[in-house]
Amino acid sequence: MVEEKSFLERVLALAQAHEARMAGRRERELVTRPVDPDRIRAHLARRYAFDAPHPLGEVTADVLTMLERWGVQVTHPRYFGLFNPSVPGAAVVGAALRAHFNPQLATWTHAAAASEMERHLLRALAARLGFEPDTAHATFTTGGQESNLSALRMAMTRAFPSIADRGLRALEREPVLYASEEAHHSLEKAAVGLGLGRAALRVVPVDRGTLAMDVEALRAAIAEDRARGAAPFFVAATAGTTSSGAIDPIAQLAAIARGEALWLHVDAAYGGGALLVPELRAALAGIEQADSVTWDAHKWLSVPMGAGMLFTRHAALAEATFATRSGYMPAPRAGTGDPYVTTLQWSRRFIGLELFLALAELGWSGLEARVEHQAAMGERLRARLVERGYLLRHPSRLPVVCFTHPRIEAGEVSAGAVVRRVHARGRAWLSLVRLPGPRKALRACVTSYLTEPRDLEALIDEVDRALTA
Ligand SMILES: *Cc1c(COP(=O)(O)O)cnc(C)c1O
Repeated sequence: MVEEKSFLERVLALAQAHEARMAGRRERELVTRPVDPDRIRAHLARRYAFDAPHPLGEVTADVLTMLERWGVQVTHPRYFGLFNPSVPGAAVVGAALRAHFNPQLATWTHAAAASEMERHLLRALAARLGFEPDTAHATFTTGGQESNLSALRMAMTRAFPSIADRGLRALEREPVLYASEEAHHSLEKAAVGLGLGRAALRVVPVDRGTLAMDVEALRAAIAEDRARGAAPFFVAATAGTTSSGAIDPIAQLAAIARGEALWLHVDAAYGGGALLVPELRAALAGIEQADSVTWDAHKWLSVPMGAGMLFTRHAALAEATFATRSGYMPAPRAGTGDPYVTTLQWSRRFIGLELFLALAELGWSGLEARVEHQAAMGERLRARLVERGYLLRHPSRLPVVCFTHPRIEAGEVSAGAVVRRVHARGRAWLSLVRLPGPRKALRACVTSYLTEPRDLEALIDEVDRALTA
């Protein structure tokens, strides 16, 4: 025990030192450095033939250097990136603890404490969604991709009950699912992976102003598909699109789904965090009516990848979809429900531990304050961009800001060139985004709870400089 304690203290100290360095030396620590693959490959080839043992201390020191030098530092307060968060020390300790005990969560009987910790946490989060924890089914997943695929699979089981046994051969009519043109491509991948094919996904246009799904276009698409004899069964609302943080009108989509007997899935992989902020929560109204919800803890809840979550109000469908038998797994204990028969995974990491520790340490109010802080930084970034002569491309309420500049719009410099120049200096990171419209835009998302007003100014300074370089 004494040894474990000091081991965990060392891990925590390392994590805290990393965070302190990212926060304390934000001006000097680069977010990214240019590198080409040959350089890394040569280094690896030179040092790691794996033909002789190496002292672990030497190897980890080298790995640390490689990770710092050759890769975007997503935990940096000036990383305005793709939903990859800074992570608290508690979560890093969680990752080390999990590796240490290596609990197998496929069955409850093998990992009683771990399973119950996840259940306890998921029930609290289900309540935040407005789901009834006693009847909902919730599980940690490897990420939004698995959550979206699992939701789609359960919806298929409900719409076409014989599909679990007979597969797509059981279908007499062509299944159709709907998502907006701004929805995440994991849905398309899920449609391909489940054998439905890309053509089964009907892409619904968005409102050009809000970038949220055009509800009338959805209605029309459903009517058209029914008229040609197809079988609409699933609609995905996105709560926080990846490109722009747009939120589809969930309550309206819930009403359509009810009227048309479609499964309503809400992909809140990123935007789920907004549920923790009173002023933003209303934007997700209707999510409590969803048949299933995807919510990634490894995005706005700031724990390491991959910690996805999937919630559904149809617990029985989870089992009907994923049930299997085996002669070697221990019998489940009554009232527990084994993940390997109710989810896609088999061997299962203790995925929820990082969030459990982070939330336990911070408390709801602490976690809410972090989410709120990032939302406030997003508001401030929008205001400062406008004050400094930039143009906002859409009216998002989440801290995802897509913007452009009169010089880009005039064709004097491309958004792509601006992004490349910012990356080349490495003092901040932002991305390029294609939205409906003729020109690409710049996209900056506040993904770190360490980001402060001076980081926003530094980002705009970098973009200013890149515009005129
Ligand atoms: C990130 C994201 C996904 C995919 O989730 P992963 O955790 O990366 O697998 C799906 N949908 C949306 C809206 C996302 O932002």
